[in-house]
Parts: sequence; C-alpha cells; structure tokens
Amino acid sequence: MLADIHGNLPALQAVILDAQRSGGFDVVWFLGDLVGYGPHPDECVEYLRQYPLTGVAGNHDLGAIGEIGLNRFNADAAMACLWTQRTISTSTAVFLRGLPRLLRLPPFILAHGSPRDPVWEYVFSPSQALGLGMLCAEPHYMVGHTHVPAIFSMTAASPPPGVELEADGGVRLRGRLLLNPGSVGQPRDGDPRASYALLDDSSETMLFKRVAYDVEATVAEMRRRGLPHRLGLRLRAGY
Ligand code: ZN
Repeated sequence: MLADIHGNLPALQAVILDAQRSGGFDVVWFLGDLVGYGPHPDECVEYLRQYPLTGVAGNHDLGAIGEIGLNRFNADAAMACLWTQRTISTSTAVFLRGLPRLLRLPPFILAHGSPRDPVWEYVFSPSQALGLGMLCAEPHYMVGHTHVPAIFSMTAASPPPGVELEADGGVRLRGRLLLNPGSVGQPRDGDPRASYALLDDSSETMLFKRVAYDVEATVAEMRRRGLPHRLGLRLRAGY
C-alpha cells in the first residue's frame, strides 16, 4: 500500500525492495500523488507499471494533467506542478488520466483524500474519521494525502478512538477503520524515511513500515532540474 510517492524514485525503489525482502507482494495498491514535487515523475510511473498495479488519482496527478487548476496549490507546489506538466511523457499523462478517483475493493475503499472528497479532503484527526464512518458500506477506508501515517477508528464505541502510529507494528483490521500508510516520497511526520504499509488480506493485518533511502540523491536531482529548493529541504527533515 503506497501513497504520495511524489516523483521520488529512490524512495519508491527502497520501499519496493523492502516489500520484496519482507515476503513479497501480489499487487501494489496506491493512493494517489504518484507525481508532483519530485524530480522523477515518468520514472516512478514506469517503475511501478512493472508490477500488478491498482489505485486512484491524487490532486497532484490531476494537476499534472491539467484537470485541476494550479491556483488550488501553494506557490512551491504550483511551481513543481507546472514543471511536472511540462516534463511528463504522453504515456505518463495517459496513465494518470485513466486513474479513478475512488476505488471499491470490498472490504476496502481507496481514495486519495477521503471517500467524501477523494481529491482534496485531509483526514488528520479521529473526530474527522468518525464523521466519515457511515459514508460507505466498506469497513476499511484507505487514504493518503496528509503524508502522515495514521489509523483511526470510525466507530465511537470501539477502542481505540484513534491511534497515531509511531513505530513499525502490525495492526489487526477490526471494526471500521480509516488507515493511511503515510508518504513514500515526502513524509511529513518528522521522520524523513519513506513510509508505506504491507497489507495481508488473509490474516487481515496491516504492517506500517519505514525505510531509509538516499534522500540526497533526490535532493541533488531536484536542484539539477530547477525545482524549488524548499522542497528538497523538507525531504531532509521529513516535514
Ligand atoms: Zn501528496
């Protein structure tokens, strides 16, 4: 389960390698924002397409193909988005254009932001997750967009009401949960390591993982390609 790869190829390769070393995988699920911010949009899409793949579009993917106006993004994001628009190949653009915004794979539903507003809604808190609980029949919502790994209960009665994950650890998927694997290519929880999750649907567990990767290789490539300097600095610090 990958989210918010953001054109960061070294981070993407590191998590795929880690997943292979951790027993392998049948399919890659992604939760949007394959591109935007990072220097390797085409490379990330091509790399992922080697594997069985299913997932949804994020706001940056839609920005990169002109389906969302740049005025919806902050200054650095808009600059990177414009660069991405001008850089991506026709094949990448066609791939991004074909992505759904919401995907139902019972008992899971996949969206970049939330099932209510798949493109833009950020779910940062347990109370927000509670408010979304009755929206869909599927008991488990998989989302990205915040770049912060999280697991929230969507039923007031069932503990825990909401737990932010701090360390690697398997989570048993019980009750109605909203899960966010964190960001592969631009983590924002103060830990610069790439974040992703392994989902085992037979044991119904999800293992949140962090993987170190060559941040400086990505930062150097961003500089070389003229992307905003601040976007490189935030990768080093994970914010
Ligand atoms: Zn994102």
